[in-house]
Amino acid sequence: MSHKKTIKIALAGNPNSGKTSIFNALTGAHQKVGNFPGVTVEKRLGHIRHENYDITIVDLPGTYSLTAQSLDEKVARDYLINETPDIVINVIDTGCLERSLYLTTQLIAMGKDVVVDLNMWDEVEKSGEIIDAEKLSQLIGAPVVTTIGSREFGVNNLLSTVINLFENGNSFHHHPPISYGPLLDDLIVDITDAIAQSGINISGTNDRWVAVKLMENDSDVWSIYRDEINQNDALKEKINHAIKHIKLTISLDPEIAFEEGRMGYVAGIVREVVKTKSVNRMQLSMLIDRFLTHPVFGYPLFLVIMWLIFNATFTFGQYPMNWIDNGIHLLQSFISGLLPAGPVSNLLSDGIIGGVGTVIVFLPNIVILFLGISLLEDSGYMARAAFLTDKPMHFLGLHGKSFIPMLMGFGCSVPAIMATRTLESHRDRILTILLLPMISCSAKLPVYILIAGAFFGVYAGHVVFSLYLFGIVTAVLIARVYLRTIIREKSTSFVMELPPYRWPTFKSVIIHMWERTKIYLKKMGSVILIASVILWFLGYFPRNNNYTRDYDLEIKQYQQLDTAGSAEKIRELERNKLSEDLEYSFIGRIGKVIEPVFQPLGFNWQMSVALLTGFAAKEVVVSTLGVLYQLGEEAEKSTQSLAVKLKNDGVTGLSAYSFLVFILLYTACVATVLAIKREIGRKWMSFSIIFQTLLAWIVSFVIFNAGKLFGL
Ligand code: GDP
Ligand code: MG
Repeated sequence: MSHKKTIKIALAGNPNSGKTSIFNALTGAHQKVGNFPGVTVEKRLGHIRHENYDITIVDLPGTYSLTAQSLDEKVARDYLINETPDIVINVIDTGCLERSLYLTTQLIAMGKDVVVDLNMWDEVEKSGEIIDAEKLSQLIGAPVVTTIGSREFGVNNLLSTVINLFENGNSFHHHPPISYGPLLDDLIVDITDAIAQSGINISGTNDRWVAVKLMENDSDVWSIYRDEINQNDALKEKINHAIKHIKLTISLDPEIAFEEGRMGYVAGIVREVVKTKSVNRMQLSMLIDRFLTHPVFGYPLFLVIMWLIFNATFTFGQYPMNWIDNGIHLLQSFISGLLPAGPVSNLLSDGIIGGVGTVIVFLPNIVILFLGISLLEDSGYMARAAFLTDKPMHFLGLHGKSFIPMLMGFGCSVPAIMATRTLESHRDRILTILLLPMISCSAKLPVYILIAGAFFGVYAGHVVFSLYLFGIVTAVLIARVYLRTIIREKSTSFVMELPPYRWPTFKSVIIHMWERTKIYLKKMGSVILIASVILWFLGYFPRNNNYTRDYDLEIKQYQQLDTAGSAEKIRELERNKLSEDLEYSFIGRIGKVIEPVFQPLGFNWQMSVALLTGFAAKEVVVSTLGVLYQLGEEAEKSTQSLAVKLKNDGVTGLSAYSFLVFILLYTACVATVLAIKREIGRKWMSFSIIFQTLLAWIVSFVIFNAGKLFGL
């Protein structure tokens, strides 16, 4: 047996070009998901054994270029430079050949060994376009293969091409240098020679690439070479001269001059390679876009689509929600029937099943919302939504691209925060993430429904709607404040990508939906489970045996009496006993201690405790009030009985509304807060927690006291 050889492959390409499909086809099930070292962008890593080779494959984040403007681009570029993969498979959506080749040229310019994978070949065949893959291969000097990633077609050929390139290396395929036009080409040769002579380039990239990047004023590349260049007067002089020369002769910044050169080069290739130009997918998309992004008709349609998704979320979610609710009650009575009464049975049925249960009930809503979002994304409409909302988003000091995370924020802030990774600028990411806690996520909804239902009867719907609106308006106002104080930096402009429309495939929609749902389920299994257990513990201990009345004796007496009214009487006694237990428990004591802080807002100790536990997850507010007020089992009566109990406790409609506003605005839940820390750091996380809580307190205070002045 000969020795095993190892090959390291990286998959690079535009977002949605089919990288992950190709990756899955190559690796089958043998994959690991992790993070790139030091950053939070996900990395898919796969290993395969093929013939005599040990092959490692990395699915890089999707990028349009390697100028390292966004986090995704930077991760992809750093990987290519530092990890020096043997072969880069450049996955291309052949329907957008021109845009995709822009990245290809940059990979080649870096000196990477590239295999160009013309993916989505089925779409090309359908479109009637003829693409000369052979010619493309000659022009760019790299092997070209065609695949259909979603059907695993052509993947074996891709693999053997990779191995062939690995074995025969550059002697077989030689990339001719990319031409940026005569003037720039001359300068590049000059600087490249100077760099080669100086011997400063020890990275995995070639001298020509370094030369271009230095002239382009690329800050990352400069930071690597600055010291050496500063010590080498001749080289420094040459580079400065070249930059001045470009500015003088073509009166453009060098970066733009090179970018235009690259685009011209790509356009030239496309002209040679694409034979018949019938209506291609891009053009068809442009035709559709005349309507969908029309400055007048685009908006009503957009609103209808959004309305449909939110409506579907609640209408279709209703049925499975009821099933789950019933299932939970069955399970609870099953457990309490199975185990003898005592702490263990109580922990299982009330603490764990009851606690997680109140939250898992909302899973159907969330799944449907995520399904809608995945459909919009995969079809390409989401990019249009970003385009349409660009102007309104400017009110927030943001771009249309931030609309997607904001929209997802109505579902759950955690995936929404993760979705900000696609934003180019760090500033936009911070601003978007800081505004997200004011969006009414789906976890706040159960609280709205419960409290509004209890206090505002038929007007509950209006109250809930007003809260959604209130959150958005507050976010807009706070954004204005941020822009004048902590985020002074101006937002940078960028190109709004409009990828072609595509019928979403069932599989990928389901996968995208599942990836988001998984995050929600993880939250359920971790944070909410732990919170439920802690909450249960605090409510169950210490045990009280010093009651105002001898409940046990009275209950026994009624049991012996066994008259018509005695069952009712027993239940009442049991409830009163539980309520005394709770007041005696840790939770009751904590509530009493923090009550003064919330008294000016009109909240009693039970509500104060609910706010504390709500930090674990907003839904927990509901279960906490449920526990503290010992709601009856009859679900449909529960809002009524809660209202009665709260009202008996002196809670008015005004303080209920002020409570809802507090829930809307105060610090995001633990899971969200941790996501903020992961994405933009501890400092912003602390800021968000403190700021939101103070904001909530002040706003609720104003609402409650202003309302009292008006005699509400
Ligand atoms: P990535 O963003 O580059 O990882 O792209 P994905 O692998 O997630 O693919 C994006 C979408 O294109 C998915 O809906 C895939 O099912 C679909 N897709 C991938 N390859 C092909 C292909 O060759 N033909 C067609 N028609 N669809 C494809
Ligand atoms: Mg992918």
